[in-house]
Amino acid sequence: MFSLNPMYDYTDESEYGRGEASERNALYQEFERAGVGISVMKPFAGGQLLDAEQSPFGMALTRVQCIQYALDRPGVLTVLPGVRGMADLEDILAYVDATPAERDYAALAEMAPQSREARCVYCNHCQPCPAGLKIGTINKYYDLACLGDEMAAEHYRNLELHAGDCVGCGHCDSRCPFGVEQSARMAQIAEYFGM
Ligand code: SF4
Ligand code: SF4
Repeated sequence: MFSLNPMYDYTDESEYGRGEASERNALYQEFERAGVGISVMKPFAGGQLLDAEQSPFGMALTRVQCIQYALDRPGVLTVLPGVRGMADLEDILAYVDATPAERDYAALAEMAPQSREARCVYCNHCQPCPAGLKIGTINKYYDLACLGDEMAAEHYRNLELHAGDCVGCGHCDSRCPFGVEQSARMAQIAEYFGM
């Protein structure tokens, strides 16, 4: 058991977490491939991520951003924040009605130096895709399929639109705060799946 949140995934291992973000991501992918669901605890790092003064990033995230970050990790089925009373519960349930802009945690790219590895974190900040592609979902299924997850590959094939439908407009490239050249990646994904 360990916590899942941006503080653990993107800070020095000796301070808060174990291993690097890429290793932790590989573990989440392994869970998804094996059909093991992850229940996330400590999504706000005990509240530290909600307070700019306490956060190791020097900036605050919102509860909604932290919940979305956790839900976007491979294998994650549910997020279980600690609740001290009705006010906490109402703040957490605000996630249900939050807009895509409120759920967007792309600010993490500025806050967390390791996120500059140009790895897609499935955040969907680069949306909308003019061709209608679900960019984060396509990338998540591709990463999992590369690890031998046949179910993820099947999910990919069942999508309405595939990487092969990318028109190479470059909108996602210009929008990605994590430095991913997504249009090139779409070509790579299309080649992998043949669609
Ligand atoms: S390409 Fe960038 S903005 Fe788009 S989902 Fe991946 S990490 Fe997020
Ligand atoms: S380059 Fe492809 S995936 Fe990216 S926004 Fe344009 S059509 Fe969508």
